Amino acid sequence: MFESLSERLDSAFKQLKGEGRISEINVATTVKEIRRALVDADVNFKIAKEFTDRVREKAMGEKVITAISPGQLMVKIVKDELAELMGNTEVELELKANPTVILIAGLQGSGKTTFSGKLANFLKTKKNKKPLLVAADIYRPAAIDQLKVLGGQIGVEVYSEPENKNAVQIAENAIKEAKAKGNNVVIIDTAGRLAVDEVMMTEVANVKAAVAPQEILFVVDSMTGQDAVNTAKAFNERLDFSGIVLTKLDGDTRGGAALTIKYTVQKPIKFVSMGEKLDTLDVFYPERMAQRILGMGDITTLVERAQAQFDEEQAKKLEKKIRQNKFDFDDFKEQLQQIKKMGSIKDLLGMIPGVGKAVKDLDISDDAFKGIEALINSMTPAERANPELIDGSRRRRIAKGAGKEIQDLNQFMKQFEQMRQMMKMMNKIPGGAKGLKMR
Ligand code: GDP
Repeated sequence: MFESLSERLDSAFKQLKGEGRISEINVATTVKEIRRALVDADVNFKIAKEFTDRVREKAMGEKVITAISPGQLMVKIVKDELAELMGNTEVELELKANPTVILIAGLQGSGKTTFSGKLANFLKTKKNKKPLLVAADIYRPAAIDQLKVLGGQIGVEVYSEPENKNAVQIAENAIKEAKAKGNNVVIIDTAGRLAVDEVMMTEVANVKAAVAPQEILFVVDSMTGQDAVNTAKAFNERLDFSGIVLTKLDGDTRGGAALTIKYTVQKPIKFVSMGEKLDTLDVFYPERMAQRILGMGDITTLVERAQAQFDEEQAKKLEKKIRQNKFDFDDFKEQLQQIKKMGSIKDLLGMIPGVGKAVKDLDISDDAFKGIEALINSMTPAERANPELIDGSRRRRIAKGAGKEIQDLNQFMKQFEQMRQMMKMMNKIPGGAKGLKMR
């Protein structure tokens, strides 16, 4: 995500390195580089020009203090402007009404159905709501099945009427059903077309008129660049939507849509969707996104994801085992699974300041964990609970069962043993284990 833009901006800032002060000449060169980088990231030329004009004005007006280099000052100015362009502060969903009706609109393939599932999961787990998902796509029977599968995975009910070809009726009936069953949020997944088309727009507009939703979220594939911005304009003219959802930010997007869509339609980006896992929906924070683009990382999101997975009971149990020097392979596997739930490894690394850039070309797949998990799975329950049992002949059997070489197991066992030694040492320090949380 944004890798090429990040790199280009970084090299633009480097032009200022070594310069003792900001002068008209060196600002002009840097600003020109920034503008080119934005245009190449699929930002409309006019927006890019306005952006860099503001950056230049600010840079020239700043008094350079000795503690900060011109390069650092420029990074700060650009970060503030990027955040401003994307909306500055986050905008929450309006969830007061009971039931709150949320209409999901967008082109076919934009990720509407996937997002509907993610949103239902988000509202259920993070906002304590009882959502009802509604399949109002009357053209594609497969869309109903897709939503049902998603609903099943997250334990959320799905309302559908496979025989009914009237989306307005389906939406109205779904709301009645929600009221009867006590669902306090109704998420209506509407039909999309491959391109903006009058029949689709009229249908969604009719559903809107009939059910008066509190939120209309426009879902758009961020990989479509300027097209995404144009589609947003068309939908906004007809629907006057309340927020934007950018999907597929995990993909190879140049970033133009994320940067300019808010500015163009003057509606906030409310969520970004990265990946197909149902529990990886992030509220959109313009400031954090700006930091990520500039390679400053996004520790806040990383910590929040960790906290979301944090299970206090489990942590206490683990702490006790560590204190008694009883950390075993079952605990290890449990920890691996918790990390995996936080998202893809590459995505997580990208949130650590400075790391994103370093790992962008590496092929880091989540398969690295698979080998270790296979080794642990190949152990008997007794072996997992008592690593000391694992002698030479057991090692051969375990490695073979996992389809691995014995050296792989030896190396893993060695690392595991070192980790246990470290834990033992921590336990010897008074109060040491208390400060040690294996998370
Ligand atoms: P709809 O036609 O708008 O309902 O779109 P779908 O939800 O069916 O999504 C279209 C395709 O994009 C599916 O293959 C999804 O798995 C995929 N998809 C949806 N959201 C994301 C995302 O955030 N990242 C990635 N990589 N793929 C996604």
